[in-house]
Amino acid sequence: MSFSNLGLSPEVLKAIEDAGYVEPTPIQQEAIPYVLMTRDVLGCAQTGTGKTASFTLPMIDILSSGRAKARMPRSLILTPTRELATQIAENFEIYGKYNKLTMALLIGGVSMEEQTKKLDRGVDVLIATPGRLLDHFERGRILLNDIKVLVIDEADRMLDMGFIPDVEKIVSRLPKIRQTLFFSATMPPEIRRLSDAFLMNPKEVTVAPQSRPAAETVTQMLTVINPREKREALRRIIKQEHVETAIIFCNRKRDVDILDKSLRKHGFNAAGLHGDMDQASRSETLERFKDRKINFLVASDVAARGIDIDDLPVVFNFDVPLHSEDYIHRIGRTGRAGREGRAFSLASPADGVLVQAIESLLGNPIQRLEIEGLNTQPLEQTDDKSSNRTRRRAGHSRNQKKATGKVQSGRKQEQNGPNSRNPGKSRRVHSSDDKNPNEGESKSPWRDEERPRRRRKRSRGENDKDPENAVVGMGDHMPDFLKKPARPQ
Ligand code: AMP
Repeated sequence: MSFSNLGLSPEVLKAIEDAGYVEPTPIQQEAIPYVLMTRDVLGCAQTGTGKTASFTLPMIDILSSGRAKARMPRSLILTPTRELATQIAENFEIYGKYNKLTMALLIGGVSMEEQTKKLDRGVDVLIATPGRLLDHFERGRILLNDIKVLVIDEADRMLDMGFIPDVEKIVSRLPKIRQTLFFSATMPPEIRRLSDAFLMNPKEVTVAPQSRPAAETVTQMLTVINPREKREALRRIIKQEHVETAIIFCNRKRDVDILDKSLRKHGFNAAGLHGDMDQASRSETLERFKDRKINFLVASDVAARGIDIDDLPVVFNFDVPLHSEDYIHRIGRTGRAGREGRAFSLASPADGVLVQAIESLLGNPIQRLEIEGLNTQPLEQTDDKSSNRTRRRAGHSRNQKKATGKVQSGRKQEQNGPNSRNPGKSRRVHSSDDKNPNEGESKSPWRDEERPRRRRKRSRGENDKDPENAVVGMGDHMPDFLKKPARPQ
């Protein structure tokens, strides 16, 4: 199948040829003709499958006739993160180079004034994160009643980040007659409910069956190791497996900093990327990584979300992700567009239930990797009680949210302040339009008092100046007062 069979215009075909694409990917083959027919599309696809081009290419043709009025964009693409929004904008520039569409990017962390000026001039394609779009809307700087095409990208991640109430609010302001394209890597019940509400008679396109969603092109390996030896294990794997460049995922922002420092101390060319960095430094770090000026990018989930780097050969999970779907997203950074990739995960023995959840989502056990010079360990077996508790960490909190119906919107949480505690209402707190509540302390669905002691101790130790020698617990050093015999009553 060639791109010329899909019904795209000569301008778009020429841009595709310039981009060096020879053949449409399966999602492009399936979705593009329907998008061109102005049908609604429900796409179940991971990143790396070419899904961005499956909506940007036909949208360029749909929007090529007609002109936008001031403050009234003609299409809207909602994405959960700034990085993903920026990447989609880059895609529009590449594929739309022979068309004269105007585009605006509304993301947090950059000046609103520039964005307003662009809106005033009229935009054909508006790419936005939900929080920043609502800010503009509430200040009266944008009208949404001329939107003809709506794209919701990475809907499952919107759900994770608490953006669904914002998305619903935005969609309620759009014209009822419009075309809607809805993409999600996974289809949990909450996402199904949304797609039913937003789409009319959609064409469903699934490129990775839910039972085996991980990119088939990624060789996955897992090492179970004493948590104190994880940094050493990482360094050894890098050498043993001849890894030259990789993204290394951590669950928490502060661990990103610690690991980044540790790697640099050991002579690796590394840099950190997380949601607390300002937008300029995030973009600069990403550019340096893309240009191969940095070899190891230590990143939190949200910062790395949607990052599209050609030829990224390896992904590390320095921590096992708390939600099994995040594992799929993380390893999806490699093995893209049919290329081979490798994913190495470091688990500690206590991560047994998290690993189980991932393996059951994959439908396969992950191959175990031995590390030269280090002793690997078995995963801990958990009893029913603790496994229920840990299962909540392993991604089942979404259903709980649905059951309680008490999820706060990202913006509401913002208004309450990042430190607001409302345990009965929401377990997720975040403070900016695209900051992931899953980053940092709030990543865990547990409240602080529920957080496992093991993790607290490790964190405290890792705040020490030398992360490599951080004290992580009492270990063998039992204080003398504990050894005193009890006084007779
Ligand atoms: P996406 O799934 O949209 O994040 O795309 C993943 C990567 O595949 C990006 O680097 C695209 O540039 C690339 N890509 C998209 N479509 C094609 C294609 N038909 N042939 C080759 N590469 C593609």
